[in-house]
This record gives sequence, structure tokens and C-alpha cells, in this order.
Amino acid sequence: MISLPSRDFLDTPIEEFIISSEKVAHVQIGNSAEHALLVLTKTGYSAIPVLDPKYRFRGLINAQRITDAILGLDHIEYERLPDIKVDDIMEKNLPLIHINERFQRALDLLIDQNFLCVVDDDDQFMGILTRRVILKQLKKQIYQLKK
Ligand code: AMP
Repeated sequence: MISLPSRDFLDTPIEEFIISSEKVAHVQIGNSAEHALLVLTKTGYSAIPVLDPKYRFRGLINAQRITDAILGLDHIEYERLPDIKVDDIMEKNLPLIHINERFQRALDLLIDQNFLCVVDDDDQFMGILTRRVILKQLKKQIYQLKK
């Protein structure tokens, strides 16, 4: 049987676990779907944030959304990629997490998301929190409890 992680651990601020914004690949509002696909392909990431010029979080873009936007009746219309803006096809309805939140909240949200975008009070993009990082911390905690 696995013992539950301690309350202190669940109350840990997420700030220390995030990948900070300057290390996160992103695209900007107004960028083309072609540019976004290039960044996604080059980095190998499944999805990346879309930010505005003031570095505020606006949405997420992934390859599936881009492909869907250029899906014709019987072929994929790649020639349309430069004319499509990421703003028109990005995902906007996602849970965000505030920089001052605690581990427990992140754990709840990361059940359904591979990673979370972290924002401050002004929606400024602070970075991301990945399921991988949180699982690593959880594993560490569980192994410590076993000792
Ligand atoms: P990982 O846990 O490293 O597999 O990352 C999961 C997902 O988080 C990736 O597929 C990306 O969508 C996103 N991600 C992780 N690190 C970065 C990064 N440095 N820049 C942009 N997105 C990232």
C-alpha cells in the first residue's frame, strides 16, 4: 500500500517546480499557422503557448489544430498555412494555474492536462508546469515515505 504524501508537501508552492517563461518555446498572436507548425516540429513539443506582445497568455496551439484547419475534402491544403493566424485556431478554453498556487491544485489539474500554463494576477505568462515534473516530485516524496 502507498502512504499518502504529507500535508506539507501538498502545500508546497508550485513556483519552485515551473519551467520559467524564458525557457518555454512559444508563438505570438498574429503568427501564421505555418510558423507555429515549424516551431512545434523543430522542438518536438505537442503543444506550445500563444502569447501577446505584452507576454500575456492567450491560448495554446498544437499540430492537431493546425492540421484540422487545413483539412480539405480529399487532401490537406498545405498552401493555406501561411494565411491562417494562430489566434483563429488556438485553444482558449483551458485551465490555467496561478503562480501562487500549491502542489495540490496542480495535481488535480494535471490529471487531465499534460502541462499547465502558469500566470500571475495580470495574466502575464510565467512559465509551464508539466505532469512529468509533478510526477517526479510525487515519486520522490513516496520513496522518502518508504524509508
Ligand atoms: P514533457 O513533460 O517534457 O514531456 O513535456 C510535456 C509537454 O509540455 C510538451 O509536449 C510540450 O507541449 C510542453 N513543454 C515542455 N517543455 C516545454 C518547453 N520548454 N517549451 C514549450 N513547451 C514545453
